[in-house]
Amino acid sequence: MLKIGLTGGIGSGKTTVAKVFETLGIPVYYADDATKRLMNSNNALKALVIKHFGEASYKNEELDRKYIADIVFNDKEKLALLNSITHPATIEDANEWVQQQSSPYIIKEAALLFETEAAKHLDYFIGVSAPLETRIKRVMKRDGLSEAEVMKRISRQMNEEEKMKRCDFIITNNDEEMVIPQVLSTHEKILSRIKKEK
Ligand code: ATP
Repeated sequence: MLKIGLTGGIGSGKTTVAKVFETLGIPVYYADDATKRLMNSNNALKALVIKHFGEASYKNEELDRKYIADIVFNDKEKLALLNSITHPATIEDANEWVQQQSSPYIIKEAALLFETEAAKHLDYFIGVSAPLETRIKRVMKRDGLSEAEVMKRISRQMNEEEKMKRCDFIITNNDEEMVIPQVLSTHEKILSRIKKEK
């Protein structure tokens, strides 16, 4: 079974595009959601978070996401530290999830793939691309953030152009081009690669 990474910058529309692949019967692993779940359920990971970020990281056994976000989105090193703690747990969980799937290919959707060890576990990459202004507007609207707050988050990520260069397939989600036909054509291309590799 082929393992395909789906990535793009904040607000590019990764989740939106992944949902379209799901309608084609392709199982999708949402890495950011999984990380949030694991931070609440994986005891070894919880212990590491408390060790590095303090007891205040959890309120009534639940991760205090605002407390953590306030720390990591204001401090590059703390963000790298949090990622170094969470990524191995998410990669392990994703690998276990892959074992349970049966389909020609699966997708792992994540904002960070090339920045982590995750890329090594994947065969091909789909990049979702959108202009910076569009991404900023979408995230301001979705998360109720100011432009400066969105920019701060974007500036912490690998630049989008760099990310897209490393992708095998690109889906443009710029409010002008239709996404569904692009997903269908990418799906067909992946299936034909699978046939060729057999
Ligand atoms: P993040 O990395 O922040 O999780 P993402 O790349 O997964 O973001 P989405 O959550 O899919 O992006 O999209 C961001 C917002 O933009 C959502 O509210 C989504 O509904 C909206 N959106 C995505 N694509 C389009 C589009 N083509 N037209 C209009 N709105 C869109």
